[in-house]
Amino acid sequence: MPCARVSSRRWLNLQEYQSKKLMQESGVTVQRFYVADNPPDALQAAKRLNAKEIVLKAQILAGGRGKGVFNSGLKGGVHLTKDPSVVGELASKMLGYSLTTKQTPKEGVEVKTVMVAEALDITRETYFAILMDRACNGPVMVGSPQGGMDIEEVADKSPELIFKEVIDIFEGVRDDQALRMAANLGFKGPLERQAADQIKRLYDLFLKVDATQVEVNPLGETPEGQVVCFDAKISFDDNAEFRQKAVFAMGDMSESDPTETEAAKWDLKYIGLDGNIACFVNGAGLAMATCDIIDLHGGKPANFLDLGGGVKEKQVYEAFKLLTADPKVEAILVNIFGGIVNCAIIANGITKACRELELKVPLVVRLEGTNVQEAKRILSESGLPIVAANDLDDAAKKAVAAITRK
Ligand code: ADP
Ligand code: MG
Repeated sequence: MPCARVSSRRWLNLQEYQSKKLMQESGVTVQRFYVADNPPDALQAAKRLNAKEIVLKAQILAGGRGKGVFNSGLKGGVHLTKDPSVVGELASKMLGYSLTTKQTPKEGVEVKTVMVAEALDITRETYFAILMDRACNGPVMVGSPQGGMDIEEVADKSPELIFKEVIDIFEGVRDDQALRMAANLGFKGPLERQAADQIKRLYDLFLKVDATQVEVNPLGETPEGQVVCFDAKISFDDNAEFRQKAVFAMGDMSESDPTETEAAKWDLKYIGLDGNIACFVNGAGLAMATCDIIDLHGGKPANFLDLGGGVKEKQVYEAFKLLTADPKVEAILVNIFGGIVNCAIIANGITKACRELELKVPLVVRLEGTNVQEAKRILSESGLPIVAANDLDDAAKKAVAAITRK
């Protein structure tokens, strides 16, 4: 059920260096590091580290940095070097520039901080995460022996290499579970125990900070026989803010989701989800009902955009632009109940958006309420391939069917 995620705020995410600070405090193995927000400080940090090799990492909330590109021309948000004297110069091509990765919007995200860390040789990269999973009513560990920068591909092409372990929240991670996960991740000999120990410490941290997700990719192995968390992403439950004051004080809201920020400019509320049906609705209640009914019919919402009250045609157009910009979207479901909203304005906005954006995905529309007859006339006379729906149930069925048929 996706709707537990439909809330007025998103879960807090922290930067990698902040997550690693929390990990250090919980006895999780991370490499030594400093942070810097200007090139001279980055250079100094590199010298101070006095390491054989240094890794310079751009700090943004999105993943895929290793394979990202800066608008300064620099390729890669993660750079390894044996020469500390080049770190200032490298940092000057990161700081103040935007980094675009698979997970950022096209224009990228501005880098304000870099992490200067001790690099270690990695003989093997695995993937490990703990997350709250609604389907299991509690925490689940997920791991793969093939971690690193292409984990999405592994999940896609070799799902048998993804291992899961459901955790009983009252019991915690049992020894046998931690060891089995460590073995599934491919840790051998003494490394198996060490990895199991890291897994348990990560779980302790997960509970301690009220996380909804702790993701380590890669959880790597070094030639010296150490299991190290090389990357870190932690998301936190916003409902725990009252008892996680220190964690939330670190939060930097300036890097909130760019789609949400863009939506806010037009007085629209956007929430990203993981499915493939975009939902265009008015009101949070209707949004949740729409998500639930899509779910009931076997579909998954990709996002939802809440139009709110006094709607203008331009907003409808901008809303469509935002919804269709998400490449996951394979169908759009419009579910508007016109109380204050005049359905004819929505209908005009929709037809304009369809034409100008050359909409390529099926569009199912359910309109009800004020001026709905006029709205229906506008839609049917538009000659556009819009699927009309009688009610919400019908709309959800049709949207799910539109995708399945493809
Ligand atoms: P992202 O997931 O955003 O691409 P990572 O922190 O996972 O960023 O870094 C990308 C890759 O860089 C890792 O998969 C790993 O191969 C390498 N790397 C990261 N940190 C280190 C380190 N401390 N020492 C050596 N290599 C590292
Ligand atoms: Mg990573």
